[in-house]
Amino acid sequence: MLVMMQAHAAPDEIRAVCRKIEELGYRAHPIPGSTRTAIGITGNLGAVDPAPLQAMAGVAECIPVSKPYKLVSRELKEENTVVDLGDGVRIGGEELAIIAGPCAVESREQAFAIAAAVRAAGARLFRGGAYKPRTSPYTFQGLGEEGLQILAAVRAEFGLKIVTEAVDNESLELVERYGDVIQIGARNMQNFSLLKRAGRAGKPVLLKRGLSATLDEFLMAAEYILAEGNYNVILCERGVRTFTDHTRNTLDLAVIPAVKRLSHLPILVDPSHGTGRREKVLPLSRAAVAVGADGLLLEVHHQPDQALSDGYQSLLPAQFEQLIEETRQIATVVHRRLPSARLADRAVPTGQA
Ligand code: PEP
Ligand code: MN
Repeated sequence: MLVMMQAHAAPDEIRAVCRKIEELGYRAHPIPGSTRTAIGITGNLGAVDPAPLQAMAGVAECIPVSKPYKLVSRELKEENTVVDLGDGVRIGGEELAIIAGPCAVESREQAFAIAAAVRAAGARLFRGGAYKPRTSPYTFQGLGEEGLQILAAVRAEFGLKIVTEAVDNESLELVERYGDVIQIGARNMQNFSLLKRAGRAGKPVLLKRGLSATLDEFLMAAEYILAEGNYNVILCERGVRTFTDHTRNTLDLAVIPAVKRLSHLPILVDPSHGTGRREKVLPLSRAAVAVGADGLLLEVHHQPDQALSDGYQSLLPAQFEQLIEETRQIATVVHRRLPSARLADRAVPTGQA
């Protein structure tokens, strides 16, 4: 159930309703909107009796939620969620988020070379795994904490925000400390204890769609994170498993407008894992921006032939630059914009590691 407060409800009235919800044994999630505050209720197994809440000062109405998810739903919050990472970097606003970098952090030299290139082209966020969930136990598993230290050095040197994956509760604690956004990968989309731990983290979470997850399963996974009190969740479509074999996965771009209709959360597209082929990343990036994605997650490598993972789907820096310029033109058609490459000239904040 949702408790919709009146437009001019006083903060004290909102607090009193939250207190009452907690007294009834549930959890209250007050979500301010542009015109009024909505309070989501979780922790109830059956229907919640609206009577004691309905009668309280400042309450406009109590409405049952028609979907299995509540907090991620547009019914709770009409406006789009914009995740603010500080220093003018936001995900879900008018400016599209461009997150670029290698599949895995391999060395300081590799990460710095790629960071310099993507920043010069306009990226404001850097990706790179220090913990890699690989199909084979015999392939490169990531540098672990050393990789996170390299990422923190990238932030200090280039002023890029860091997005990096946590694969279990232990790595999540470290990723929370070193990174700016905690990535939960496709293989962990339904790792419910990890989702709950991410919900208690103090940093935003980028949640990737599972390999064969339905839209409802995807939104319910996000709901786990919000239900624990972390409302800064960014979704990411990265392709699903189908019968086709011309691409690594089938990038489901139709999920973007579907998510936009049902949820207020921002959603990005990852055409790198979505296609698995370098030459398909540019066309699918154009399409992702056209269909209304809030940004792109892209793998870029300066020496893809020597990459320790996913080299065949990694863009060369020059291809990344071309992608930025082409999608910039498409973005204007859908009333969005890309970050300016001129930002590369601004002073780099130092000592943030
Ligand atoms: C990644 O983005 O580094 C990754 C492992 O992707 P996914 O979880 O979508 O396979
Ligand atoms: Mn990868």
